[in-house]
Amino acid sequence: MIPRPAQYLLRFDDLCPTYSRERWRRFTPLLAEFGIRPILAIVPDNRDPALAVSPSHPGFWDEMRTFEGAGASIGLHGYQHLCVSRGRSLVPLHPETEFAGVEEKTQRAWIREGLAILRSHGLHPAVWVAPRHGFDRVTLRVLREAGIEVVSDGFARRPFVRNGLAWIPQQLWAPAAKKSGLWTICLHPTTAPDSLVEKLRKFLGDHAQHFTSVERAVAELEPAPLSFPERVHAEAALLRVRLRTGLKRRSGAA
Ligand SMILES: [Zn+2]
Repeated sequence: MIPRPAQYLLRFDDLCPTYSRERWRRFTPLLAEFGIRPILAIVPDNRDPALAVSPSHPGFWDEMRTFEGAGASIGLHGYQHLCVSRGRSLVPLHPETEFAGVEEKTQRAWIREGLAILRSHGLHPAVWVAPRHGFDRVTLRVLREAGIEVVSDGFARRPFVRNGLAWIPQQLWAPAAKKSGLWTICLHPTTAPDSLVEKLRKFLGDHAQHFTSVERAVAELEPAPLSFPERVHAEAALLRVRLRTGLKRRSGAA
């Protein structure tokens, strides 16, 4: 169902032991202050130089366990965050992807190994968060086999079922007030400017009571396949974002 008034979820991407602790620490007081239960999307075995901005932090895994204990959902954010495939994704926002188009046995190995790494640190990954929105039907089949039932992606206004998994839509990259629907705001702590942290603080001040969690969204909003008009609406929303990011890329802004 489409919640009214709107509900929000917060998702933090690109977390790994070599992240910028100082930049992440700009956000963590807000989670405690406003009682937010975010999705923490963790790269299990990061090899992406862009995410290796400091020496491996020894307290990283302990910190993630503490957040999970406080109600955060742990997201499997790909495997190594190396986006060198050019397969077509089910959410085609970027030409480069880690998973889409990669052969099944490799995807299966990466997902098994990624889950094993997160579990070896005492975490309970329950949500798939694809680097650069890149994944295909094979990815979803492999995730299902591995017991992962929730995907954080897509442009619908409510949780839905596609290819046998529950999708929690992710449509925003900064806080924005909405009248209805479930909206996931995706933030990248390493690159987020201070202005975005301030914007989030203000937004939480006004809307904290309307923030939900993955668990609650799945339990309360009854994910079901999208109707034809809902699919059209989601495709149109995806197209608008593709046009916007395409224009930015061409003008050199992204
Ligand atoms: Zn990422």
